[in-house]
Amino acid sequence: MTIRYELEPLHRNTPDAEFLDDLKRVADELRATTVTMVQYDERGRFSASALQRRFGSWHRALQRAGLAKVRNINTPQDELFNNLADVWTRLGRQPRMADLTSETSRLSADTYKRRFGGWRNALKAFVRWANCGNADGGQSNGPANGSALIRRRGPREPSLRLRFLVMRRDNFRCCYCGHSPATDPGVELNVDHIKAWAEGGFTVLDNLQTLCTKCNSGKSNLSARAGG
Ligand SMILES: [Zn+2]
Repeated sequence: MTIRYELEPLHRNTPDAEFLDDLKRVADELRATTVTMVQYDERGRFSASALQRRFGSWHRALQRAGLAKVRNINTPQDELFNNLADVWTRLGRQPRMADLTSETSRLSADTYKRRFGGWRNALKAFVRWANCGNADGGQSNGPANGSALIRRRGPREPSLRLRFLVMRRDNFRCCYCGHSPATDPGVELNVDHIKAWAEGGFTVLDNLQTLCTKCNSGKSNLSARAGG
């Protein structure tokens, strides 16, 4: 989306019903019971702020259209899980609710509790999500299908889910020196290609290993010397 430095038309002559019909149309398109302002700006005929002005608030506009109040229901499930994978791998252990601070996590523990009916349930749903999918650790998020059986090289960067699977297999420890952020705060783990991606290595579980930043940079120096 580009930011436009234009004054928005005021739509003074647009009747309320026209705004509300368009809001309902967007909800139908999304097959959702509610619409966020961002979603409306992407698909609506008007701007979300025009509706906000007309009806006093976004919530009022939703009410008038017979739609539900926006809660965190709209955070896509993959976003919830990707964020949790990120927190988990950085901690090097299963996160507790108190670990989800504004510094470590983009989403609050309450968001997970509300969405899954408790923290424990959120963790269970996350583990199911991490475990399901392709044998290669899943660059795609959908369940395995016929084409997923074909081994794909994958992009250079592993997905957050694949990073989680690699690190979990390696017990969140560096494969060279054994350090883990769970026991040695300050240790940062990376996922490294065993056969380098530049040399045709695949971004799949069995070609990836967990290394700490120190060992990872030592490895590149070594291979640079060996290569030279
Ligand atoms: Zn190490």
